[in-house]
Amino acid sequence: MRLEPIIGILFAAVTGWAAARLVRRFWPKSGKWGINPQPVACPTCGTPAPRFRKPANRRQMLWGGWSCPCGTECDKYGHPIPPP
Ligand SMILES: [Zn+2]
Repeated sequence: MRLEPIIGILFAAVTGWAAARLVRRFWPKSGKWGINPQPVACPTCGTPAPRFRKPANRRQMLWGGWSCPCGTECDKYGHPIPPP
């Protein structure tokens, strides 16, 4: 009986599992690629970000964030973005 295919499958399974664990542990909580599951509010006036927000520009569409009615633009973490 040949063991190589079984060892190969086991190796692939363990490697994939370890990679999935690593990705989940080290996935950024900040930065453009981060995921922020927490609800955020405007840092200026405290208005909570709308659950389903309409992107006001391309950056918001790509990376999240919203424009508050008070005029503050925030990223998805609720940090104010200075106007360009
Ligand atoms: Zn605001």
